[in-house]
Amino acid sequence: MTQRYQRLVLLNRMSVALFGDKPFAAALPEACHAAMALMGAQSVEVFFADELGRPVSFYRHADKRLAGEPSHATERELLTRALGERKIVTATDGLRSWEAAPLLRLTAEVAIVTGGVVFGRVKAEPLDSEREGGLVEIARHLRNARMIQQTLQHQKISAAIVDQSADAIFVTDLHEKILTWNAGAEDLLQWRLDEVLGRHGAFLVPPERVEQIRDVIAEVHAKGFKNGVETERVRKDGSLVAIEGTFTLLKDDSGEAFAIVRSYRDITKRKQIERMKSEFTALVSHELRTPLTAIRGFAETLRDFGDELDTSKRGHYLQIILDEATRLGHMVNDFLDIARIESGGIETNLVTVKTAALFDRVERLFKEHKSKPRFVLSISPGAETIHGDEEQLYRLFVNLVGNALKYTPEGGRVALSAIRAGTNLELSVADEGPGIAKADLPRLFEKFYRAGDAITRKTPGTGLGLAICKGIVDAHRGTIRAESEPGKGARFVARLPNGTSA
Ligand code: ADP
Repeated sequence: MTQRYQRLVLLNRMSVALFGDKPFAAALPEACHAAMALMGAQSVEVFFADELGRPVSFYRHADKRLAGEPSHATERELLTRALGERKIVTATDGLRSWEAAPLLRLTAEVAIVTGGVVFGRVKAEPLDSEREGGLVEIARHLRNARMIQQTLQHQKISAAIVDQSADAIFVTDLHEKILTWNAGAEDLLQWRLDEVLGRHGAFLVPPERVEQIRDVIAEVHAKGFKNGVETERVRKDGSLVAIEGTFTLLKDDSGEAFAIVRSYRDITKRKQIERMKSEFTALVSHELRTPLTAIRGFAETLRDFGDELDTSKRGHYLQIILDEATRLGHMVNDFLDIARIESGGIETNLVTVKTAALFDRVERLFKEHKSKPRFVLSISPGAETIHGDEEQLYRLFVNLVGNALKYTPEGGRVALSAIRAGTNLELSVADEGPGIAKADLPRLFEKFYRAGDAITRKTPGTGLGLAICKGIVDAHRGTIRAESEPGKGARFVARLPNGTSA
């Protein structure tokens, strides 16, 4: 009776150690010592199977009478036998005795080996039924503790993966009640975990998508999953976000469905690009076609009626062809530049550029411009040289001055200036044209963006010039901004870091 009581106490001590709050690594030695006492043993070694099913020693303790190699070798041999035969096995050398038990997980069909335990005693006595019963209990305790520890580990791994995912991932039960909600879902949909747990997920679905999700869920129930669902969801602030959804049905061991995992990927960017691509195609075909039509028209006229036209008309038509071909060339360059900027930016060849020479070159290019601009150039002390890429800086000014002239119908004064601002240089182009509405200012540097005013509508353009300017300034690690008040002209300022060359 006392012996049985003592056995129960020791088994209980094992349970408390293994299934308490202690980390597994700390609990295992404590449990092993209780098990040794229960078995009347002086050595113990516990093995757990690794991912490939091979036994790995997790803990060993041996009295010096059992610590040596012959004893250890016997233990190993015994373990191999126990695991192979999937039952308790024993051995003795006449002075000492050993017993090993496999840790087995029994499924309906097979017994899976999850580890083993070996005890050694400094007495040569057979394993009696009492101790055998104890050994079975010990093996069961160790197996359960390992399974729980591994399950917790796997849960932690899954939770970490879900948490680190940039995608919104959450689980609902079969009645759409939200059970989990990861950080990605908080970011994408703006609701915090505590605001959504237990809620019915319908509030995330915009009314026009209700029918779609109903069909999707029906398919998920039938097939187990549904990938690549392009749709929209409502954020907390009421805005819509474009997503691609993946839906997976979760089933328990008996095959009964109990939940649906939903993973939403933000596809706003992709949608934007798709939209931009179609806008781009529309724009390119329109913008390229206009000069092409003119070139073709005038070339045909010259071919068919050239002889009948007087010299000045012929000259005029040829000039149109030349102008339009030049415009076409500029446009093609713009498209190529923007493509280069988008595919990783422009490379810069930074040198010391003389500001006066740069301004001069720009002025020369536009001197013959039809609007007869008056250039005012100013270079403040400390701004005589620019640390930059000469050709790109020229392109920046050509674009900005080109715009100043393009959007100022009467022509007028165009001021180019370079001033030093601490370690930066501020390069600016200012005109006296119609200016730009406040609402348009923040978007001017976006690709294809054109202001909605009447002058812009009348003026041909692609909306790429300022995007290219921004690309150039970005490549110089600078910033660019527009300042304007309608009716009072526009000023574009590029601020470049210039500490190295002053
Ligand atoms: P594009 O001139 O081909 O339209 P840009 O990117 O160069 O493209 O300019 C974008 C828009 O900014 C123009 O469509 C125009 O509305 C506005 N803008 C640019 N420069 C000026 C300026 N100097 N004065 C008034 N509006 C301007």
